[in-house]
Amino acid sequence: MARPMELAARLGWYIFKNKVTRRRRFPLVTMLEPLEKCNLACEGCGRIREYEPVLDRVMSVEHCLAAVEESGAPIVSIAGGEPTLHPQIDEIVNGITDTKKFVYMCTNALLLERVMNRIPPSKYLCFVVHLDGMEEAHDKSVYRKGVFKIATRAIRSALEKGYRVTTNTTVFNGVDEDDIIEMFEMVTDWGVEGVMVSPGYHFDMIPNQELFISRQNARKVFKNILDARRKIRFYNTPLYLDFLRGEQEYQCTAWSNPTYTVMGWREPCYLLGDRHTQDVNDLYADDVWERYGVGNDPRCANCMMHCGFESASIFSAMSSPRAAIKLIKEGAVQNSGVGAG
Ligand code: SF4
Ligand code: SF4
Repeated sequence: MARPMELAARLGWYIFKNKVTRRRRFPLVTMLEPLEKCNLACEGCGRIREYEPVLDRVMSVEHCLAAVEESGAPIVSIAGGEPTLHPQIDEIVNGITDTKKFVYMCTNALLLERVMNRIPPSKYLCFVVHLDGMEEAHDKSVYRKGVFKIATRAIRSALEKGYRVTTNTTVFNGVDEDDIIEMFEMVTDWGVEGVMVSPGYHFDMIPNQELFISRQNARKVFKNILDARRKIRFYNTPLYLDFLRGEQEYQCTAWSNPTYTVMGWREPCYLLGDRHTQDVNDLYADDVWERYGVGNDPRCANCMMHCGFESASIFSAMSSPRAAIKLIKEGAVQNSGVGAG
């Protein structure tokens, strides 16, 4: 199944409507985390550490659907934790796609083949499979041997069954660029809709702080990967890829990706959870964004994550005809920072 044109058209119309009503900040992607528990313990994962006291909490289906409605964004990224561990993940996904919102379900794919029996293929659903490199590199990144084999088997099986599939790769310090390029080429060849890529966020609570890449080094690595001129289909917007290369600067617009967890909406963003609120509108307040973003909070200095900057690239295109043309020409207006994990 190919990328639905309806997604780009609906997203464009949605942004236009919000701009016309002069809404200053509004959501593009609801990041929904129905549980924070995972069946892996990746070295660079902040979630399973930050939410350790509430790893047993599971959001009800009704609660998930209500959060999606409250936010109102046309795209929903389901993450966690590992969403396939939720006993009613099929009801959550099917309940959202029934409303014609576009769902991206992020998964490590260990249980994906089992879940596919309960969730039919749909143009409104795309699986986003976490893959950080070829076999040795990926298994090292997720701290368990054999995961690459299961994840790649699940990708091929999903593609054969007619599901939309993308991959999501987090780049850490010391990454083997050739290995990542090989993996990108492999999954592009299999027919995934695209590969998403982003540098890992520097979580303070991760014991191995050497893992994280600075903005300066990330730019060198991404330039090498993106300029390799191989047959790779990237899912990120071309403007965000320019940002990763260091050829564009954006201020973060993470308010466009409100994140709902088992404790409520994270403030300010998917990465920083200084407080949780029960009202999504709190996330759009001026005083919040006077305190966060590059230059406002030292924890934002090295951040280049798609949840903060991919949507910024889309908003920039709204005010620059040249950027808009690049976005339309390269056919990638629909990814607004949907990857997680
Ligand atoms: S990064 Fe994703 S797969 Fe890894 S432990 Fe965290 S939630 Fe699980
Ligand atoms: S730059 Fe934006 S997305 Fe990144 S940590 Fe800061 S507020 Fe969050």
